[in-house]
Amino acid sequence: MSEFDLIREYFLWDASPDTTVRISVGDDAAVLRIPLDKELIISVDTLNEGIHFPVKTPPHAIGYKALAVNLSDLAAMGAQPAWFTLALSMPVADTVWVGEFTRGMRELAQQHGIFLIGGDTTRGALSITLQVMGLAAPGKALLRSGAQHGDLICVSGTLGDAAAGLAVVQNRLALAAEAAEYCVQRLNYPTARLGLGNVLQGRATACMDISDGLLADLGHLLKASGVGARLHHALLPVSPALTSVALDQRLDFALRGGDDYELLFTLPKTLLAVVRQEASKQKIGVTVIGEIDAQQVDLQLDYAFSDKRCGYEHFS
Ligand code: ADP
Ligand code: MG
Repeated sequence: MSEFDLIREYFLWDASPDTTVRISVGDDAAVLRIPLDKELIISVDTLNEGIHFPVKTPPHAIGYKALAVNLSDLAAMGAQPAWFTLALSMPVADTVWVGEFTRGMRELAQQHGIFLIGGDTTRGALSITLQVMGLAAPGKALLRSGAQHGDLICVSGTLGDAAAGLAVVQNRLALAAEAAEYCVQRLNYPTARLGLGNVLQGRATACMDISDGLLADLGHLLKASGVGARLHHALLPVSPALTSVALDQRLDFALRGGDDYELLFTLPKTLLAVVRQEASKQKIGVTVIGEIDAQQVDLQLDYAFSDKRCGYEHFS
């Protein structure tokens, strides 16, 4: 199959009913009509085999996850997904693989109304780069930098499932069959919290998605906001699938594991009830895990890991 045929077969998706796309896949570049009353939000992420997903990950999951992690960045900004481009590098043009890969990606794209408008296809080690573009009302995008003294620190969903899933795939952790399947599913098919991001617009003082682990990512948020925080380990939302895991390891997954793609955000206390109510309409749990304390210089956690990889109190 020639490169041209491959593109036509797998990357030329249904014409967008969205009138913002004037020229899509097939020309030298895409042409978009950007709504004048919006700000354009852009993010790019690469997934490399063996680093961002295990070598034996099914292609359907790779396609899904590549888009999901990028959508998660738009969710974290409170943006509405609009368009994306796809740069795909692969060792051979395996049409079964590409078919499954694009099927996974397309399912999620259709679900969120985001349109593939172009890309590049090259030969090389398996690597997938997506650039997503979204729209938000001017000045309304959620940033990492607005957390205020006294704000509650909240997370969506549960933490540590994906890290446990990775440990299962790598034979470092044994779980009951159902729990193992749940965690691997969370690793391979993360959920971008776009609806919640929308709810948080105009409410959260700071927001980001958790991709590198709660401690690392909260550290970025605190730094951007110029504040400190207290975190309570007993409040961390952990799914029933992890109840059989020893506390130290469970907290390691929840605090230091990556790939959760839940939202981490700060809220004035008075807004918690309304955010919880709106989130529950989408069947998303919101858990308070700590509070912003501008008197702290960094992040204080009330738990000491036995391996001392992170100190008892301070992370910077
Ligand atoms: P050029 O040589 O001008 O860069 P290409 O042959 O790379 O053109 O691509 C032809 C068309 O196919 C372009 O519109 C490009 O955006 C699109 N395209 C190529 N690869 C992909 C891909 N993986 N996903 C989506 N569109 C793609
Ligand atoms: Mg090209």
